[in-house]
Amino acid sequence: MRGATGDPASRPPSLRRLTSPLVGVGRTLGRTTVGFGLDLASGVARLGEAGMDVLGARQRSAGVLRVQILILRDEHGEPLTTPASVQPALATADRILRQQAGVRVRVVQVRTIAEVPPPAALDPRANKALLLDDVLGRTEFYRRHLVDPNQPQSPPTLVGVPITVIVVRNIAGSTTGCSLGMSADWVITQASLFDRNAEHSYDETVLAHELGHAVNLPHHPDRGNLMFPESSPPQGIRGTTLAGWQRATVQANRHVVPGQVNW
Ligand SMILES: [Zn+2]
Repeated sequence: MRGATGDPASRPPSLRRLTSPLVGVGRTLGRTTVGFGLDLASGVARLGEAGMDVLGARQRSAGVLRVQILILRDEHGEPLTTPASVQPALATADRILRQQAGVRVRVVQVRTIAEVPPPAALDPRANKALLLDDVLGRTEFYRRHLVDPNQPQSPPTLVGVPITVIVVRNIAGSTTGCSLGMSADWVITQASLFDRNAEHSYDETVLAHELGHAVNLPHHPDRGNLMFPESSPPQGIRGTTLAGWQRATVQANRHVVPGQVNW
């Protein structure tokens, strides 16, 4: 049968459609496995450091979580929000993670992407559908812009790599933020979260909540906890606390560089 074997470009379209998702599954699982292994490794290293600190009676300085913001444009080329509008949510995330987890949020860049995104990137699906879209390669626009082309960086590393918060226009359903957890170094947040004039959607906790997912925190049943799944502005906004095990999870994550406040 013609094209059943050999390089992918020579295969009939129907075969390419069948095989490309499998490539995506491998990619996502590969990233997850690598991420999980590194989280365990950095957690062990952290425990070792904590033990040393007890022996030496020293207080460790805060860890650092690097974050970059990517703002998308709509189909008319209008940015969905402004760098100034996302600052309060970034300051809130820094305050919560500093007080509750001993981790400082360092914003490395707030960048508005010049290229107009495809509809699926501008108004993405959420949760399992987003995971499926990632496996199918439909989140390629996000991943392509994670690194600033005007600021070539050293080869990407996995430990200490920034988490990228992408500001999209509208996420399907009632979701306003979404993370793929340890399988991705990026999360999405809806632009209306940062609009102070939108009293029924403005919510400074969502960015911090999604950063929590990105560093492996699952949902928590207590409404006072940052990882409570729901938040309903203007009343009923979720709390900002983290439990001790959540603090340990954050500090052990591969995105967090321990003990370097000026890094
Ligand atoms: Zn959540």
